[in-house]
Amino acid sequence: MQELRTSKEAVLMNVVHDATPVNVQATMQEEIVARLVLEAVPDAALVPTKLLKAFNNMVFMDEAEKDSAFKWKRSQIIAFLGKVKGNPDAYNVVQTARDSLTKVVDKIVSISQETNPKPFLQSHITALYQVKNKEFNLETIFDLVGWFFSVTGTSPTGANRENYYYPLACLFCVFWRRLTRPENAEVEAYIAANNEPQKIQMTVFDQGKASKKVTRICIMSNVPGKKEFKTEREKVRDSREDALIADGLQEKRLKNQTMVKPNGQKFGSCAETLPFLFIKSILSDVDAKTAEGFAFKPQLILPEEGKTYKYNKPSAEQIDRACNNCAYLLGPGRLGFTYDNFTESKY
Ligand SMILES: [Zn+2]
Repeated sequence: MQELRTSKEAVLMNVVHDATPVNVQATMQEEIVARLVLEAVPDAALVPTKLLKAFNNMVFMDEAEKDSAFKWKRSQIIAFLGKVKGNPDAYNVVQTARDSLTKVVDKIVSISQETNPKPFLQSHITALYQVKNKEFNLETIFDLVGWFFSVTGTSPTGANRENYYYPLACLFCVFWRRLTRPENAEVEAYIAANNEPQKIQMTVFDQGKASKKVTRICIMSNVPGKKEFKTEREKVRDSREDALIADGLQEKRLKNQTMVKPNGQKFGSCAETLPFLFIKSILSDVDAKTAEGFAFKPQLILPEEGKTYKYNKPSAEQIDRACNNCAYLLGPGRLGFTYDNFTESKY
């Protein structure tokens, strides 16, 4: 486990909780600016040796490689999405999801041309995951990119958090950041204005039995917290809460309620919601007990474009444990996951 670099940083990492109400976002902005200053301090010890390749062993993540995906510009990311769309076999795209691949990629490409961030939250389409005839609502460009990561490739042999899952989660953030942030944007102000998701979550799970067993990930973000996005954000949340109820993960009596006190967000707000819904649809084929997950705040961890990227393994203080709403969803009688596997105790 990496030690925190400064005690000040430790404080920064602990202040913002999973269920951050909008009225504490001013505090978050100060933290983000402070964090960006901290990121400027080089620390070679935080760079692990070798990262595995992503997307069915086709894409370098390791920054030592010339064609590392972490170095891709927007045009290269778009070209890559097109390559996967054109040759889903090579990237081991989930069979059922292939029917939705073209429309998802085309939507990402078209909406990434927008210069105003609001359309990023109005990119609603439906897509299949692994079950025929079961369409999921993907409401934002961040959902679309998360779906792409969740259906493309399975985890390579030997993958662990340090050499694969955490870097892949960071790559997810880099992709949507480069696809959505206007090139002329003043970076710190753009982040501080909550134009970007404030939390991402990855769930890792084993699926299938014996020789057919594979390890997959589902990854998604929450909806950016900007004040002007309030209507869109609530619409997304409400639709996701309805999906949780329809799929039997949430009891109807808890509609518009929260288990996160005080000032908790309602069900459907968390980045965990879509990964949990995806996995619920295939739960009988999943080893629920061993599933594990982590959540982090991209604003606090990722350095900015133009600076050297560090694939540092997060410290326990950087990882957010599942909130009480999520603990309920993943618990006994629902997903049947092990709660400790969704906390910082894995670090
Ligand atoms: Zn939660």
